[in-house]
Amino acid sequence: MAKYDHIESTMIHGGIYGDKNTGAVNTPIFQTSTYEQRGLGENTGWEYSRTGNPTRAALEALIAELESGTAGFAFGSGMAAITAVLSLFRSGDEVIISSNVYGGTFRVLDKVFNNFGLKYKIVDTTDPEKLDKSITDDVKAILLESPANPLLTVTDIATVSAIAKKHGILSIVDNTFMTPYLQRPIELGADIVIHSATKYLGGHSDLVAGLVVVKNQSLAERIAFIQNATGGILGPFDSFLLIRGIKTLGVRLDRHVENAEAAAKYLQAHKAVKKVYYPGLPGAQGYEINRRQAKNGGAMISFELYENYDIRKFFKSLKLIALAESLGGVESLVCHPATMTHASIPREIREKVGITDGLIRLSIGIENINDLIADLDQAIAESEM
Ligand code: PLP
Repeated sequence: MAKYDHIESTMIHGGIYGDKNTGAVNTPIFQTSTYEQRGLGENTGWEYSRTGNPTRAALEALIAELESGTAGFAFGSGMAAITAVLSLFRSGDEVIISSNVYGGTFRVLDKVFNNFGLKYKIVDTTDPEKLDKSITDDVKAILLESPANPLLTVTDIATVSAIAKKHGILSIVDNTFMTPYLQRPIELGADIVIHSATKYLGGHSDLVAGLVVVKNQSLAERIAFIQNATGGILGPFDSFLLIRGIKTLGVRLDRHVENAEAAAKYLQAHKAVKKVYYPGLPGAQGYEINRRQAKNGGAMISFELYENYDIRKFFKSLKLIALAESLGGVESLVCHPATMTHASIPREIREKVGITDGLIRLSIGIENINDLIADLDQAIAESEM
C-alpha cells in the first residue's frame, strides 16, 4: 500500500527512501556481489547479490508501490522480465498474446519458449467475446499491451482481467507505454505487470532494464524463485539510475503528453497523412476505454502517409527527431516498425494485424513542440513525390 496520497509523491519518496545509516536522500549504490557473514547461518539479511541487493531492493519496493502490487522485481532488460514471467509456465501450456505486441515478445515465444513446448496464439483482445471463446484448457494466461505496440490499440484491461479470472488463468499487462503514472493495471484487476523500464521509467535513453510487479504473495514467491534461479537481474548502478529516472517521471510525462496531443492533432489535420493512431484523439479506436482506464493517451503516435509520399525520404529528412529503436526518452525518436521493432514478426502475420510497410512510429519527447512540428512539417514536405 502506498504511503502517500498522490503518486507524484510516491515516485520521489516511495519504496525504501534514502539511507537510514547516513541520512543520504538518495539510495546508495551497493556495488557488491556478496556480504560478509558473522558465522555459519548468521547473515545480515543479504547473502549474494543475484538473490538480493539493497539498491535493487529499493527500486523493487518502489515499483511495487507505484503499481499497487505486492512485490516488484528488477531485471537486466524488458525481455529478461518477460522471460521470467513466461518461465511460470510449463510445456503444453498456452499463452494468448494480443494482436499487437512488441516484436521481441512474439520472438521469444515463437523462437525460444516454443522449443520447450510452451505454445502461444494471437487473439484480438479488443473483442471480449472472441477472447472468452478462445480460452481452452491449455490456455494459462493472457499477455497484452494497452495501448499496444505499434498501433496503439486499446484493450479494456478490467474486462480482460475479469475473463481471465473467470477461467482461473493469469492476466499479464505490459505497461511500458503508459507507466504507473498514467495507468495501473493491477488496480484494474490484472495479476502481473511488466515494464521495459528502458523506456519512460528510465526516461533518458541511458539504460536497459525490465521490471515485473505481481498482485499477490504466491506469485511474488514464484517470480522471486525464478529471478534467483535464472539470474537475469538488474545491477546496482542501473537500479540507482532507474530510481533517479522515476523521480521525474510525472513531470516528464506531463510534457511528453502535452507535446504528443499537439503533434497528433497536427498530423491528423495534414493533407499528407492517411491515418493517425493515437488513443488520445477523440474518435480513435478505444478512446473511451482508454479515458476510463488511463490518465490520458500517452506520448506514442503511429501514422501512415499517403502513397505519394516517400517514407525513406521522410526518415532521411528529419533533423531533430532521430531515427532509432526504443522510445520513452526525453528526446523524440522515430522508427519504422516493419523493419525495426517488429521485423521479427513474419510479414503475413504483421500485415494481418495492420503493421504495414508504410507505418511510422513516433516517440514524442519533451523538446519544444514548435521545433518538433517544424521538423515533421519540413520532412513531410521533402518526402512528397
Ligand atoms: N515491451 C515493450 C512494449 C517494448 O516496447 C519493449 C522494447 O521496445 C520491450 C517490452 C522489451 O524491452 P527491452 O528492450 O528493455 O528488453
